[in-house]
Amino acid sequence: MGGTFDPIHYGHLVTAEAARHRFYLNQVIFVPSGRPPHKLSHKLTPAAERLLMTLLATVPNQDFIVSDWEVNREQISYTYETMRAFHQHFGDEAELFFITGADAVLEIMQWRQIDELADVCSFIAATRPGYHLDDFKGSPKLAAKLFFMEVPALAISSSDIRRRVACGEPIKYLLPETVEMYIYKHGLYRDI
Ligand code: NAP
Repeated sequence: MGGTFDPIHYGHLVTAEAARHRFYLNQVIFVPSGRPPHKLSHKLTPAAERLLMTLLATVPNQDFIVSDWEVNREQISYTYETMRAFHQHFGDEAELFFITGADAVLEIMQWRQIDELADVCSFIAATRPGYHLDDFKGSPKLAAKLFFMEVPALAISSSDIRRRVACGEPIKYLLPETVEMYIYKHGLYRDI
């Protein structure tokens, strides 16, 4: 599961658990982005802090693990390279799915290496309720590897949580308490 996780919230955790159940996954590996190509000019919370919040949020679920593979790389984090590295690590016998938000999946589908990427994994695109999917224009090979999953809990969003913290509004019950405490203790999102 890829994401910026700035911060991680219950929408992400519900998505991971729903995907694990629906696709019979052995485990979900959360991979916080290092320097994602579409956010090079964005102000992001340092990767080490996003990684720590992801660890705090996933501790209670024994089927969730966290990888620091992208955050430890200097280079821009392309999903293609991440999935290729995971494929090499786990071998041909492992069936890999890349899980993330639908907008990001559709963006990745436009990339040049998409056919090679589709050789090593399938894609689970999580949508918010009421999300209107434009007709998917990819090849039949890609369409066969793409699964949409509506997740009502994705009404929660990281950008709304950041805005709430900056405005002094509550964020309780939108994300795990440990992550909430980390945000306040380290003064994250006070100015957006
Ligand atoms: P984003 O563009 O910030 O987010 C797009 C939408 O998807 C937002 O509504 C976001 O909600 C949601 N989302 C993000 N991660 C999610 C997850 N794990 N589960 C459910 N919803 C999720 O997306 P991003 O976080 O930067 O990127 C998502 C993943 O796609 C990352 O792994 C990134 O590296 C990858 N990506 C790769 C490329 C590439 O290789 N060319 C291009 C784009 C994205 P929240 O804001 O609430 O999370």
